[in-house]
Amino acid sequence: MNRNESLDLMRFDLSKIIAHNVMKKNQNESRVSIGNVSANSQCFFPFARLFFLTMMFSALLLTKVSWATQENLIANASLEKAKGNVPAHWSRGQWGDLKATFEYPVAGHASKRAMKISVKSFSSGDAKWYFKDIQVNPKKEYIFSNWSKSSVSTEVTVKFNFINGSSKYVWLGTVIGTGEWKEFKTSFAVPVGAVSMTVLHTIGQNGFLIVENYSIQEVSPISRFSEGMVSFTFDDGFASAYNSLPILERAGIRSTQAIITGSLTGEGYVNPRYVTKEQVKEIAKRGHEIASHSRSHLSLVKLTEVQMQDEIIRSKQELANFGIIATSFMYPFGTYNEEIEATLKRAGYAGARCSNQGYATPLSDRFHILSQNVNSNTSFNTIKEWIDKAVAEKWWVVLTFHRQEKSTDNIFSNDPILLQQIVDYVKLKKVKTVTFGQGVAMLKR
Ligand SMILES: [Zn+2]
Repeated sequence: MNRNESLDLMRFDLSKIIAHNVMKKNQNESRVSIGNVSANSQCFFPFARLFFLTMMFSALLLTKVSWATQENLIANASLEKAKGNVPAHWSRGQWGDLKATFEYPVAGHASKRAMKISVKSFSSGDAKWYFKDIQVNPKKEYIFSNWSKSSVSTEVTVKFNFINGSSKYVWLGTVIGTGEWKEFKTSFAVPVGAVSMTVLHTIGQNGFLIVENYSIQEVSPISRFSEGMVSFTFDDGFASAYNSLPILERAGIRSTQAIITGSLTGEGYVNPRYVTKEQVKEIAKRGHEIASHSRSHLSLVKLTEVQMQDEIIRSKQELANFGIIATSFMYPFGTYNEEIEATLKRAGYAGARCSNQGYATPLSDRFHILSQNVNSNTSFNTIKEWIDKAVAEKWWVVLTFHRQEKSTDNIFSNDPILLQQIVDYVKLKKVKTVTFGQGVAMLKR
């Protein structure tokens, strides 16, 4: 493939990401998801994860559990082998209206050779280096890492390719540009049917990005719980979700209700469709978990530090004022970064759910729990597949619901009959159900 072909290919593929970026920037939740197969690309993932991985590896070494990672699957991952003015097995990609300059080799952090991209005259698009697709095992979990230094925030996305030629992008995270070398590290699972993948570390604004020392390793053995699990989480605190609680309770299931606390105090995001504070207290008394969904339901990455902290810390305090200790947080619009995560930890939250699509395993990051979104266009068969997959792989599937109304015009709603069907199926298959907080408590990281 010559350079132009590869550029065209990336441009074509990345059109999906453009849409995601546009949606991500949109504060209107309903617009975020209409026609959006993946409300799921909206999750930002912090990279300050090395500490936890180190702790986890140490803990495992101490307990003599062996799940050492395998070889690095990326060819020429250290970029030492050149082929003309690019590293062997690597390509350059860009799309949109920008001027990108690719340089190789440039001085690296841990190695002699790194790759650099400088972007000027940016108005749209992005630029990236990416490695030749590698084969994936859909049953495996992988750990990706690289080192980078950038003047602006950059994005890391894994692109999975399917046998029918289609692709799917899963956002792995944002690396905040500080001008310092940083390691980005995360684990992820492979969607059903994926045959190969590459990782795109993209720069989508004026500035520079230097990358090096890439690694993808299979985690072996795959991490599993003792059995598959399902959680029922409901976002925003809709009264219709409250009205549907008997469907769950009749089956002995306890849900997690993510409340926008400003709607209770009257200072924030007030909506007459939401539950009252008396109802929230009652839900907690009935044994359901109350999670924070922030105070005002704003995209936290767009706020000042003070505003962001207020959304996270005060929402916890407001629930505490009602006698509720919230340890779970659901990111409004699924957006977050390392500072938001640090604030959540300081505030005393134990875990958080984003809107990226997928399953959780014991090695999942507790502040980056993937979920499956049940919307007005989600069929029962699809949900059944998610549950079957969680049971077969002994993974945890977190279902995310919003309104429980038979509504034709709102994507964030489903007929409560569907909820009943799901509950019946879970009971029939004797699938373990946990609240979000109970699931988080079972994670190893
Ligand atoms: Zn929400």
